[in-house]
Amino acid sequence: MASHNLVHIKIDDLEIIGYSVAGEETVVAVPQLDVCFDVGKAPDQIISINHILLTHGHMDHAAGIAYYLSHRNFCGQSAGTILAPKNLLGPIRQVLDAWSRLDGNQIPANLVGVKPGDEYQIKPNLFARVFPTKHTKGSVGYSVIEKRKKLKTEYLGLTSPQIVELKKQGIQIDYPLEIPIVTYFGDTQYADFSQLEYIVNSKILIAECTFYEGEHTGRAEAGKHMHIDEFTELLNKLNNEHIIITHTTQRTPMREIRKILKETISPEKYDKVILFMDKRLRR
Ligand SMILES: [Zn+2]
Ligand SMILES: [Zn+2]
Repeated sequence: MASHNLVHIKIDDLEIIGYSVAGEETVVAVPQLDVCFDVGKAPDQIISINHILLTHGHMDHAAGIAYYLSHRNFCGQSAGTILAPKNLLGPIRQVLDAWSRLDGNQIPANLVGVKPGDEYQIKPNLFARVFPTKHTKGSVGYSVIEKRKKLKTEYLGLTSPQIVELKKQGIQIDYPLEIPIVTYFGDTQYADFSQLEYIVNSKILIAECTFYEGEHTGRAEAGKHMHIDEFTELLNKLNNEHIIITHTTQRTPMREIRKILKETISPEKYDKVILFMDKRLRR
C-alpha cells in the first residue's frame, strides 16, 4: 500500500508525481525518465526509480535518503543512485554509516557528487545536467536533456546506401540535437536562469515559488526562496510550455495563492501554469 497520497499530473506521455509544501516535504518524480528530484520522506511510489537528483540537504528535501536506499535493498532492487552537491557527500556517507550501524545491515548506495556544469547519463540518450542555484552552499538544480543525432538538411533526401557511402568517406552527415525535457530548480532565490538556453527552452519547468503576499518579500529573502514578483520577472524571460509551481508556503491559503498568481503573471503565462498542490489549478 502506498505510504503517501501523491499528486499525479500528466503532460503528454509524461507522468509527474510527488508532493511539495515548503518546510514540510518536497519530492517530485518523473517515472518515465527514471528520475526523482529530491526525495522528501521517500514515499513508496518512488522507491523503484533508479536516480534521485538531490538539490540540497534541507530535511524536507533529503530526509528519506537512507530509507530509499535501504528499502530498495529490502525489495531486492539494485543500489539506488543519488546525485548530490559534492560538498554533501561526506555528511550523506556519515548518515548512511550511522543508519547501517543502527539497522545492523549495510546500506548499498551509488553516491555521485555533482557541481554546476556536470552531466550524468541516466539512459543511453538521456542526461541530467547540473546548474547552480542560490539557496545553500553548493545547492544545484537539474535539467534532464535528451540527446539525438539529426541528419543535416542537405542530406535529407538521400537513400540509405548513399548515407552509408558518405559515412564511409568520413563525412559528417548529422549534427547533435539537444531536447531539454524537464528542468527542476529545487529551492532557490531569484537568479537569472535565462542565461542558460537549455532552461529557457525546457519543455517543462518545475520551479519553486514559495511566497506570494507583499509583506512576505522579507521572508523570501531570509529563507533564500522566490517571491511571486521575482518569479513573474523570471517567467517573462523563459519559453517553457508547461510551468509547474512547487514549494508553496502554508502561510498563505491555496485560494489566495491562486488569486495572486492570476493577478500577477500575464494571461499567456498563467495558461501554462500548474500549481502542483492545488486541485483546481492542475491537469
Ligand atoms: Zn525546501
Ligand atoms: Zn531548502
